[in-house]
Amino acid sequence: MLTMQGGPPAYHVLAKPTGPICNLDCEYCFFLSKEQLYPGDRFRMADEMLETYICQLLESHRIPEVTVAWQGGEPTMMGLDFFRRAVELIEQYRRPGQTISHTIQTNGTLIDDHWAAFFKENEFLVGLSVDGPEALHDTYRVDTRGEGSFSRVMAGMDALKAHEVDVNVLCTVNAANVSSPLDVYRFFRDDLGVQYIQFIPIVERSTETLLPLANLGWSSKHKEKRPLYVQAGNQVTDRTVAPEAFGVFLNTIFDEWVANDVGEVFIQHFDTALANWHGEPGAVCVFSETCGLAVALEHNGDLYSCDHYVEPDYLLGNIAETPMIDLVASAKQVEFGLAKRESLPEFCRSCEVRFACHGGCPKNRFTQTPDGEDGLNYLCPSYKAFFNHIDHPMRLMSQLLHQNRAPSEVSAILAEEEAARFAGIGRNDICPCGSGIKFKLCHGAANPQS
Ligand code: SF4
Ligand code: SF4
Repeated sequence: MLTMQGGPPAYHVLAKPTGPICNLDCEYCFFLSKEQLYPGDRFRMADEMLETYICQLLESHRIPEVTVAWQGGEPTMMGLDFFRRAVELIEQYRRPGQTISHTIQTNGTLIDDHWAAFFKENEFLVGLSVDGPEALHDTYRVDTRGEGSFSRVMAGMDALKAHEVDVNVLCTVNAANVSSPLDVYRFFRDDLGVQYIQFIPIVERSTETLLPLANLGWSSKHKEKRPLYVQAGNQVTDRTVAPEAFGVFLNTIFDEWVANDVGEVFIQHFDTALANWHGEPGAVCVFSETCGLAVALEHNGDLYSCDHYVEPDYLLGNIAETPMIDLVASAKQVEFGLAKRESLPEFCRSCEVRFACHGGCPKNRFTQTPDGEDGLNYLCPSYKAFFNHIDHPMRLMSQLLHQNRAPSEVSAILAEEEAARFAGIGRNDICPCGSGIKFKLCHGAANPQS
């Protein structure tokens, strides 16, 4: 099947067996508009395409670990038999020594005992989309009648917990929940008891002309009027996080996490930052120097450069016509991946936290640097604030790793540093933390303000 021996030894595919089709109608979901790419289509991956995909994926990997990742739309709308068949095909095409990680990204509303038992039996890691406690979650994550999905998602979560399935919560950070970081984090940690959390900032680009329409949301009630969502324009919808707000959100959660939860709760932004501070691979594409090894597969075999670029200009080809590895290794895709580094503005090239940030995802690079150069990431103020805020604890954790000690020891080290910093300060002295208020009202209080 393969026509070339080159190409990367491994790559990541997000396969979308129902294309953009979903049983929810989340206000910020630009995927919904992608239905327009395939007018009149049923949006169901055929058995023949499923087999082509699995066969090519396993055949083209030159490392033993292969991840098979499903996402949507809502992949569980394919029904359980589709995934039973996928697992069967994986067993059929798996080469000796290959180990498979199964992952699925879902809104959780269709998950019952049967699904949960299947996930457990096949060791799936389930990515569950939850935006926080009920009121925050239900702001944008609604169904076609505009009703919140929280209770249905929690029923799915209960089934997953009952079967002890590994769950990774995916939380979008948007205009509604960005000012409640601790409510969101403590809800996941304490109420849901999850150990793995990913935060995804909502940045919905739009052009000036389309902005009023984009602000209505991408849901089906407006679909007839909707243009296809593409990464264009320098305006943002009112569901988008403010440029600095995501940094405040992350910093607040980081402080809580680094004091209490290192080694117990795993947050992708913090893990990937530690990899960059420690000079090791492991950073997610957004914070890597280049990208291009995470492609998106549509239900009909069309392969796109990235899940965020499922749009005509970024179509690489169809895997029924050209082997997937050839598309991943194509000049067009290599150029896409290298552009992440090559298009960095000078402001990023000389930035003190470039090693950790690498300019973020190109899809969000639509603002200008202070000296007027195009191509700065909309979230730059957040990234600068976050990466500078975590510098000291990250250095400590990296040192601990070098000494073969647990990174979780950082909490005690920071507590000791804090105690030493405030030793000998009088209750009526100005607090040394820089708040400008008296010690007794700040870090000397039972519940310090910062
Ligand atoms: S475009 Fe953004 S999300 Fe896509 S692979 Fe590159 S960094 Fe990752
Ligand atoms: S923090 Fe801002 S300036 Fe620095 S690399 Fe990231 S996006 Fe560029």
